[in-house]
Amino acid sequence: MRKKIVAGNWKMNTTFNEGIKLAKAINDLSENLSNDETVEIVIAPPFTHISGVVKETNQKNIHIAAQNCATEKNGAFTGEVSAEMLKTIGCQYVILGHSERRAYYNENSEVLNKKINQVLAEHMIPIFCCGEQLAERNSGNHFKVVADQISEVLFNLTETQMESVVIAYEPVWAIGTGVTASKEQAQEMHAYIRKIITDKFGLSVSDKLSILYGGSVKPANAKEIFEQLDVDGGLIGGASLEADSFIEIVKSL
Ligand code: PEP
Repeated sequence: MRKKIVAGNWKMNTTFNEGIKLAKAINDLSENLSNDETVEIVIAPPFTHISGVVKETNQKNIHIAAQNCATEKNGAFTGEVSAEMLKTIGCQYVILGHSERRAYYNENSEVLNKKINQVLAEHMIPIFCCGEQLAERNSGNHFKVVADQISEVLFNLTETQMESVVIAYEPVWAIGTGVTASKEQAQEMHAYIRKIITDKFGLSVSDKLSILYGGSVKPANAKEIFEQLDVDGGLIGGASLEADSFIEIVKSL
C-alpha cells in the first residue's frame, strides 16, 4: 500500500512565534487523525523554526521537513544548512527542486543530484519536485520536460535509494496562482511519472512510490484531485498557512 502524504510548504512565511502557533494548531487538530497510519502529515517550516516545531508536535503521524539543504556534507559554505544538521534536529523529509528554487536560485539537475545524495545519505526522504511552465504545456512539451527533470536527477539512484523518494508533480503555472490542474491533467501526468519510474526501476519500486500533486490545492478542490488513481496526496503552499484549511485538505485524503 502506498503512503498517503499531505505536506505543507510554509515557504518564507511566519515569524518564529507565528510558526510555533501554527504548528501547535495543526498538532491539536490532527489528534483525532493520528490513528490512521496510512496518512502522513508533513510540515515544512523555515529552517529557523524547525527545532521549535519539532518540540511543539507530538502526534505520531506528523513529520517535519526542511525546504532545502546544502549540496555538501559540511565545511566552509557560509550560510548553508547541511542534511546532517537537519537530521539531527528532527527532520525526516527535505523538499528538493521546488520551482521557486529552480527559478530564483538556479538549482539545476547537477545541483539537485548533489542535494538528493546528501539527503539519502542521512536516511531522510527527499520530496523531489518536478513540473512544467505554462509555455511548455501549451507547446505540448510538458511530458518531455517532466521526464527530463526526473531522469537527470533520479535515474542516478539505486533501486533501494529510489524506494525512499517521494515525487511531487507541481505544474509551475498552478503554483500560487489559484489555477489548479484539472483532475484529468493531474492523473495523466502522475500515471506518466509512475510509468517512467516503472520502466527504469521496475514495478516493485513504482508501485510503492508516493506521487503528490501540488499547485493551488485547497479544501474545495483537494478531494477530486486526491481521488485520482495515481495521486497519493499533495504538496500544499498557501493553504498550509492556516491550520483549519490544511487539516481539511488532510481529511480529503
Ligand atoms: C507550492 O509552493 O509547493 C505550492 C503548491 O503552492 P500553492 O499551494 O500555494 O500553489
